[in-house]
Amino acid sequence: MSQERLVYGIDLGTTNSCIALIDEYGKAVVNPNSEGLNTTPSVVSYESGTNNPFVGEVAKEALISDPTRTVAFIKREMGNDNFKSTCDVPENPVKVSAYILKKLVDDANQGNCANIKDVVITCPAYFGTREREQTKQAGVVAGLNVLSIINEPTAAAISYGVETNRNKTILVYDLGGGTFDVSIIEIKNGEIEVLATGGDHRLGGVDWDTLLAKYIAKEVGITIDFEAQCFDKDYLSIKNLLLLNAEKAKKALTKRNEVMVNIPYNGKTHRISVSSTLFEQLTSVLLNQTIDKMEEVIDLAKSKGISKIDEVILVGGSTRMPQVKNRVEKELSCIANIKDPDMAVAKGAAIFAARIKEEVKKGPRIGGAIGGIKDTSANSYGVGCFEKDTDKEIVQNVILAQSPVAIKSASSFCTRFDGQKGITFPIYEGTSTENDIDPLDATLLETFELDLKKGYEKDTPILVELERTTEGILKIYAEIDGNVLNAELKLNGVLTDSELKKAQSEMRNIKIG
Ligand code: ADP
Ligand code: MG
Repeated sequence: MSQERLVYGIDLGTTNSCIALIDEYGKAVVNPNSEGLNTTPSVVSYESGTNNPFVGEVAKEALISDPTRTVAFIKREMGNDNFKSTCDVPENPVKVSAYILKKLVDDANQGNCANIKDVVITCPAYFGTREREQTKQAGVVAGLNVLSIINEPTAAAISYGVETNRNKTILVYDLGGGTFDVSIIEIKNGEIEVLATGGDHRLGGVDWDTLLAKYIAKEVGITIDFEAQCFDKDYLSIKNLLLLNAEKAKKALTKRNEVMVNIPYNGKTHRISVSSTLFEQLTSVLLNQTIDKMEEVIDLAKSKGISKIDEVILVGGSTRMPQVKNRVEKELSCIANIKDPDMAVAKGAAIFAARIKEEVKKGPRIGGAIGGIKDTSANSYGVGCFEKDTDKEIVQNVILAQSPVAIKSASSFCTRFDGQKGITFPIYEGTSTENDIDPLDATLLETFELDLKKGYEKDTPILVELERTTEGILKIYAEIDGNVLNAELKLNGVLTDSELKKAQSEMRNIKIG
């Protein structure tokens, strides 16, 4: 196996994960798991007694039989400092994600008779700095060398881009199980540029399941609050039973007009009929939400002068619902192609991963020639300050959302009162393309202090420069009359070096089932 191919591309999905590699013919191929499946449910369950984790299909079944020892949808909790697991085994999102990554890589290595550790992992385009860092840390905890984190729609476009020779602007509509992502991407002379990107990290197939499950529960006569933060085993069992049956029915409805759902409850099996028309009516509100988001991203692209979308590609398992394709085509008056919905992201990540290795090696390009990739970030970064005229607290953005990932940008600020001897720089992350925003619309990442050598007059200019590197690292440089602050952001909520090392060594001794 040649060196540049010794790298995996991993789609660490909310619902399903997938791992791919470039094969000896230069083509991206998915590595099946040890059960022979191309995708692995992103579910972790802990064996009672030993607490040994197992990942995938078997863990998914445990959502009903052993719900208080099972974790699903952990990706929705990335970056959430208040994460409270419904699982009895105390774990954090980084560690749970690390188990999933380890299972994927161990199985792929076994199949390839290899010991590959270099990986590229994908994440939703709108993941913030902290979520990205946690994704990277999950890789590190799993004993991997994470070369890069790349946006999912960009990866899908790369996978698609190697199959197309024409220049075009494409819209990637990615509706997975827990997240929705949309990006407008230009493919020009083999180069890929992301023009606009957006999404909703709380919108995906599971929301369709939940609405159908609510209907089924009502028909059966089960009173249950799906949103309750309840950790009771019986509650979780019945909730998961309803959700998994709703999911099965939803999938069946992509091929049929009507399905029967069987729910064993109170010693009786209840049979509920669901038609595709009813299902579409129950869930139309969700489809509308994706269309609204899509329109927002189209408007962003328009503001950059892009008026024509040549093609739409649908990725993510939920785009198999016929109403998605129909609606997107109707809204955009063009054909929407479903392209490899479960595997495109992992394959694109594998192609990108091989390119990175190649660049390091400065060797010849691998097959499916694709040029540079210019990615766009959905995040804005600014400094908390006081508006000059009104003295109102605002965040003045230095880097706007929808700018290139690798960017350095500067803005001017000024001192607030006479004799000021220190300045505070609260750094906020948001998703805005506006210069000034309300602090409530952004997340505080870290606050820096700069002590000044002497007191300065009101309105003395301060230069603030923020830099975001391709790896997503944020740096601040601030200067006022030779007083300099030069620092890198340390993120709250991510593991410290010693926590990382500890998690890594624990992981080494664990065999994932
Ligand atoms: P993620 O990116 O969140 O990991 P995937 O792209 O793997 O998700 O998509 C998983 C979602 O796709 C689940 O909600 C699943 O129910 C849904 N899905 C898979 N196949 C079908 C189908 N045939 N019809 C409708 N939904 C489907
Ligand atoms: Mg996905």
